[in-house]
Amino acid sequence: MLIIGAGPAGLFAAHELSKNSKLSVTVVDWGQEIEKRTCPAVKTGKCIGCKPCHIMCGLGGAGGCSSGILNLRHDIGGDLSKLTKSVPKAEKLVKEVDDIFVEHGAPKEVHGTGSKEIEQLTRRAAAAGVRFIPIPQRHIGSEYLPDVINSFKRKLEKQGVKFMFNSRVEQIGKSEVIIKGKRIRAKYILVASGRVGADWFAEQAQILSVKLTHGPIDIGVRVEVPAAVYGPVVKVNRDPKFHIRTKTFDDFVRTFCTNHQGFVMEERYDDHVGVNGQSLRAKKSQNTNFAFLVHIELTEPVTDTTAYGQSIAYLATTIGGGRPLLQRLGDLRAGRRSTWERIKRGHVVPTLRSVTPGDISMAMPGRVVTDIIEGLEHLDEVAPGVAEDSTLLYAPEVKLYAMQIHIDENMETNVPNLFVAGDGAGLSRGIVAAAATGLLAARGIIAKAKA
Ligand SMILES: Cc1cc2nc3c(=O)[nH]c(=O)nc-3n(C[C@H](O)[C@H](O)[C@H](O)COP(=O)(O)OP(=O)(O)OC[C@H]3O[C@@H](n4cnc5c(N)ncnc54)[C@H](O)[C@@H]3O)c2cc1C
Repeated sequence: MLIIGAGPAGLFAAHELSKNSKLSVTVVDWGQEIEKRTCPAVKTGKCIGCKPCHIMCGLGGAGGCSSGILNLRHDIGGDLSKLTKSVPKAEKLVKEVDDIFVEHGAPKEVHGTGSKEIEQLTRRAAAAGVRFIPIPQRHIGSEYLPDVINSFKRKLEKQGVKFMFNSRVEQIGKSEVIIKGKRIRAKYILVASGRVGADWFAEQAQILSVKLTHGPIDIGVRVEVPAAVYGPVVKVNRDPKFHIRTKTFDDFVRTFCTNHQGFVMEERYDDHVGVNGQSLRAKKSQNTNFAFLVHIELTEPVTDTTAYGQSIAYLATTIGGGRPLLQRLGDLRAGRRSTWERIKRGHVVPTLRSVTPGDISMAMPGRVVTDIIEGLEHLDEVAPGVAEDSTLLYAPEVKLYAMQIHIDENMETNVPNLFVAGDGAGLSRGIVAAAATGLLAARGIIAKAKA
């Protein structure tokens, strides 16, 4: 039994398989052990394109070096009830994942629900037509995450799981994979290759005739405001999720990945740039940043959301001269480009300097631009100051999720004995959800092996 990927999906599947079956389990990962994962961009803010990427690859998977926030809701990071066909079953799955994290050292406290402040924020948001999603969250913290992951790995090794790091699977065949030119046989293969392996897996899936479809995407900007503006909201919830329906187009816009007193980061892909955010323990900024994303689904006859998202990212990269675009919200509203001169006149000092001040409306579709402006104006009623003219917008922030792989109730694809789990199969978008799909896939494999 071979598992591709040592992220949450792969590790939780390995746990279930090694605990509840006699199958011998090997986990293969492109990246390294957690101690060896050191990203140069964490210090410099600039990605130099390491292969494999330390942020995305290795023991613990993507976010293995993050602050490790566990969102303990079955409908956050993907809707697990769609897979379990029952909300109570999906909730039980979340609890199982959470219990394992706690067993390996995740802190006992759960934040994010039940307090008076949360009730007040929920009410204030509702009055402004904004939905605040209270999420019970467990914060592992970047300083403890490696210990939690290593403790879990030790347990897996005791249960007989073998690990192969620095090993990229080049090709998947029927009951075999190719690593560094060598064929390795495995009766069952579980692909848990995450977002970083999604394009590679989509190619493999096409070769193997695995059925798949394009999923929705999220496109937008990274918003940067003074920390004082977002502070009161962040005090209630470290990564507050606000869901907004915009006036003109009735589109769905949401906040995501908040970094209080954090920094905006450049992401460099082979053919385009993007932005993201991070918060550092040792260094704090005066600002808060968060992603502000418009949800896009395409319907027949054109469904290729990936190509659509990519073409927007290319256009933004072209108009930014190979760098992310930066614009003040006031300039976007007024229909003029930003310049360094105008940005200096505002009171938000950008935390990412390797950008091109410009005009986001020359890169993004008018509908997305309208959604961003209207959405921020809505959010301003919950966090006053967010839609101020000086607010900074960095583009593009594009979340191209993986192709959605067609699976049966056992998480098996139409190719016999090829199973999938996690972000790379378009089944999840977060640690807990990915881990839960790993458990489900493992149970599917065990059921098939017994049959
Ligand atoms: C910076 C950052 C911070 C995050 N913070 C949070 C957070 O706080 N809370 C949260 O819920 N989510 C967070 N996420 C998202 C979360 O990390 C992912 O949703 C989750 O890790 C997905 O799990 P996965 O197992 O599906 O895939 P991944 O975690 O992406 O793991 C996939 C693994 O597969 C390996 N792989 C890929 N292709 C191959 C191949 N061909 N051969 C061998 N190995 C391969 C990769 O090296 C990788 O280690 C964060 C993500 C990032 C990037």
